[in-house]
Amino acid sequence: MMSTIDVLSVPICNVTRAEACDFVYKCVDEGRAVSIATANAEMVMLAQKDRELHQYLLQADLVVPDGAGVLWAAEQQGRRFKERVTGVDLACSLLQEAAARQTAVYLFGGAEGVAAKAAENLQQQMGTLNIVGTHSGFFSAEEEPQIIEQIRSGGTQILLVALGVPKQEKWIRDHLYELGPCACMGVGGTLDVLSGNVCRAPKWMQEHRLEWLYRLLKEPTRLKRMMALPKFVAAVKWGNRQNDLR
Ligand code: UDP
Repeated sequence: MMSTIDVLSVPICNVTRAEACDFVYKCVDEGRAVSIATANAEMVMLAQKDRELHQYLLQADLVVPDGAGVLWAAEQQGRRFKERVTGVDLACSLLQEAAARQTAVYLFGGAEGVAAKAAENLQQQMGTLNIVGTHSGFFSAEEEPQIIEQIRSGGTQILLVALGVPKQEKWIRDHLYELGPCACMGVGGTLDVLSGNVCRAPKWMQEHRLEWLYRLLKEPTRLKRMMALPKFVAAVKWGNRQNDLR
């Protein structure tokens, strides 16, 4: 059993990136279908009002601590996550391992052409990656069964789903058992990064927990979404006070 730390009633696994990757491949070896989520403050806040998302996070096989906010929230409870495990980093570890083992990978999501471009870049960097298919994240209800069939018939074992939060989580919840035994991870903007369309923050900013600031400066329209952060801070502080009073 993996140890977890609860952040606003969302249990997040206290794992390193390497441990998370080992867990996923153990499941792949056992032919188990698994769901993987990357929890940051924004997702945790959304789960406070979106019951379906909350339920999904309670049942997911692996929820990793993505984002400076959840690390801080654990510290507020006197606990400490071993490390921050971002979606991009875990996805890259899974892909590296996939290249080494020739595991079948499918990239699903992003604007038209993004997943295909990400696949092209990955093939160039990793050479031997076995990508069985790609599809954009903008599709009609009629197209969906074909996408699912493509994922299943390709023998996909690692599926990266980039439809944004909480759409990707709900998609994985609805379809996990139709895809064949496959590890499905909601990856948000990761395919945009892998395609080269979006750059990650410089290392020093990542290390100083400032990746959110970089993303805000690059995409000021994210400000509205980021208003979840002060609410998150207040909720964590308030929760602690309630506990102190008990
Ligand atoms: N997206 C998609 N289909 C949709 C909505 C969004 O494929 O119906 C993609 C979008 O193109 C982007 C990703 O989902 O690549 C969401 O990125 P964002 O940075 O918002 O994700 P976050 O990591 O913040 O969840």
